[in-house]
Amino acid sequence: DNVINRIAAGEILQRPGNALKEMLENSIDAKATRIQITVVNGGIKLLQIQDNGCGIRKEDFPILCERFTTSKLRTYDDLSTMSTFGFRGEALASISHVAHLTITSKTSTEQCAYKAAYLDGVLVGDIKPIAGNQGTLISVEDIFYNMPLRKNTLNSPQAEYTIISDLIGKYSINNPQVGFSLKKHGENNNIVTQPNSTSIDNIRIHYGNTVAKELLEFEMENRSFKFSIKGHISNVNYSVKNMEFIIFINDRLVMVPNLRKSIDDVYSMYLPKSMHPFLYLSMQVEPRNVDVNVHPTKHEVHLLDEEKIVEIVTEAISAKLLGSNN
Ligand code: ADP
Ligand code: MG
Repeated sequence: DNVINRIAAGEILQRPGNALKEMLENSIDAKATRIQITVVNGGIKLLQIQDNGCGIRKEDFPILCERFTTSKLRTYDDLSTMSTFGFRGEALASISHVAHLTITSKTSTEQCAYKAAYLDGVLVGDIKPIAGNQGTLISVEDIFYNMPLRKNTLNSPQAEYTIISDLIGKYSINNPQVGFSLKKHGENNNIVTQPNSTSIDNIRIHYGNTVAKELLEFEMENRSFKFSIKGHISNVNYSVKNMEFIIFINDRLVMVPNLRKSIDDVYSMYLPKSMHPFLYLSMQVEPRNVDVNVHPTKHEVHLLDEEKIVEIVTEAISAKLLGSNN
């Protein structure tokens, strides 16, 4: 049984960055305004995330790592939003099957924090009261300790660190209300964004001012297909070798290959051959219009009426570029 669970977890979590993405989303869901990440060995030895969010109640500790345990299913819409992204209380459970997981948390109403360790979906030992501030601290140690083959397929710690830092950069752009920090254990070279920044501030921090100063503000709404988009897109004077296409749908970082391709094609009318644009888009759609058949690790999603939506968005971007080019 544990072997089956481990294999399933290994499908969802292929590298430390996948675990971090889930935990970042949990911290943001918990309304954190500060999120600090610490890594050792590119997150392979240790991946730790501390937030100042709402915290976890003591009575929820025993079931936290049971599959399909979630505190977020309130309405049918919530349910479909989450099943959209392939996870319904599966993230912590999965992590506990492939790593040593420790959770410390305090809510605003409890006197002290509580700490517990998890293995293979279950709590091990006691829930210990300890001192601590409101929020949650999650430590993921020795990821894939029980999956040597998977561990061997990981990149170098430096490359895994780059994936993590890139992920935090993207989440900071989509969540400028949160202050993020990332540090390698024992060093103090933090990558920091301040709380209450703007997306542009954080694009500047992570991609540089050369990109930030060339961005156009992009906003659109479509009533018929019930979606809206806000974001920043590069103008026709800026380009990079590899397209940077950051898209969040309902605040989840995802991939929409058809949209990416179609937008890249528009830019190729303006840009030199083999040069590409930078885009950050935050899209809100009706949860029920996102296809639930997603690839668990690629975070690839498909939209209902995707062909139409891709056409509409591409046209709007095209119009924006045309307008700014005159
Ligand atoms: P889901 O996010 O789909 O609910 P997870 O496995 O990611 O499932 O998390 C399980 C539950 O653990 C969440 O529903 C939430 O109640 C709690 N939780 C996890 N991380 C945090 C956090 N950083 N702050 C507060 N609660 C959290
Ligand atoms: Mg989650």
